[in-house]
Amino acid sequence: MYEPITNEQLIAAANEFGTPVYVYHAEKIAEQYNKLVNAFKDHPTRFFYACKALTNVNILRYMKSLGALLDCVSINEVKLGLLAGYAPNEILYTPNCVDFNEILDCTELGVRINIDNISILEQFGNKFGGTYPVCIRINPHIEAGGNYKISTGHIDSKFGISIHQQRHIDRIVKTTGLHVQGLHMHTGSEIKDIEVFLRGLEVMFDIATRFPALDFIDLGSGFKVPYREDEKATDVENLGRMVSQAAHEFEKEYNRTVELWFEPGKYLVSECGSLVVKANVIKQTTATVFVGVNSGFNHLIRPMFYDSYHRITNITNPEAAQRIYTVVGNICETDTFAWDRVLSEVREGDLLVFHNAGAYGFEMSSNFNSRLKPAEVMIENGKARLIRKADVFEDLLRGQVI
Ligand SMILES: *Cc1c(COP(=O)(O)O)cnc(C)c1O
Repeated sequence: MYEPITNEQLIAAANEFGTPVYVYHAEKIAEQYNKLVNAFKDHPTRFFYACKALTNVNILRYMKSLGALLDCVSINEVKLGLLAGYAPNEILYTPNCVDFNEILDCTELGVRINIDNISILEQFGNKFGGTYPVCIRINPHIEAGGNYKISTGHIDSKFGISIHQQRHIDRIVKTTGLHVQGLHMHTGSEIKDIEVFLRGLEVMFDIATRFPALDFIDLGSGFKVPYREDEKATDVENLGRMVSQAAHEFEKEYNRTVELWFEPGKYLVSECGSLVVKANVIKQTTATVFVGVNSGFNHLIRPMFYDSYHRITNITNPEAAQRIYTVVGNICETDTFAWDRVLSEVREGDLLVFHNAGAYGFEMSSNFNSRLKPAEVMIENGKARLIRKADVFEDLLRGQVI
């Protein structure tokens, strides 16, 4: 049975490895993965971990041990995946606006290719004909709702080939003899409504009838995790039931079984991650009480970049009186993590935790202000181990011509 990580474990990791530190709880990843697998057990379904959320090779290896496959958006992610032990056919490469040469290099590596642009589809078809199977990324123009920045299905989106370009796809496939093995859509992050998935699926089934020999339909991601106290995760059980049923219906007409593929990122690794920071200073102004922590958007940019909410707790003074704080970082730029947050009284030196920080946390970090990137630690079977050292000063100079 899955046991949540404890404050004591996080404090111990902070003491051993220093702060700030990203701590990932392996069993939480397993729990999330198993929820997905169970939800879709009624239909052949495969899960490709969208590794741009968190690419540490130890995480990739752990995913592989669970049985997950890998979704990559750059050739370097592909190389990390191969290094972590994935076979080429266990990797799906889904690039956007990359140089055609990068796609060719990925065919050399033998991974599965997902194409999201008419011009690339044509070049690919001219070069390979039917000899290298491809997947086509469709933009079904389903509004995912939520944040426009992370929604990719809308009409202005740069992702995918529009469903309205279907005739154009047909022409290229017919002329070049391309072997289209799968169709793909990824409407954006944080879909709250199962209806959205089902509408997307309908569009995909409709297009699928134009391709006689599909092996799979890839529905991307959009699995939501709760960030705020009052939010709910995507109801994957219900989703699994409805989508499997729709797929069975489709297959009756299509006369062929198509696997369902998904590409969860956030769902697998968001909740496993905690960013542990130290309160450097308490700063009282006329307007508020700031807690200034030894981090900033150089380590966790989601609150500033997406207006994301991350739950924060004081793990070294958890039973104290509740007070209201504005939590900010220590870099010379406005880097507010949270306004008016109720926390157990924070003293200078207390450890605070940003929860749900596993996805797009470390991965989007930088060396802004010549600050060092934090260490990453993985806790598995109750044991904490370092999976990335914190930067040292020399890392700032690496590559500089001095
Ligand atoms: C980012 C991305 C995902 C993962 O999205 P999450 O919201 O993290 O689950 C899946 N597929 C593609 C193609 C992506 O670009």
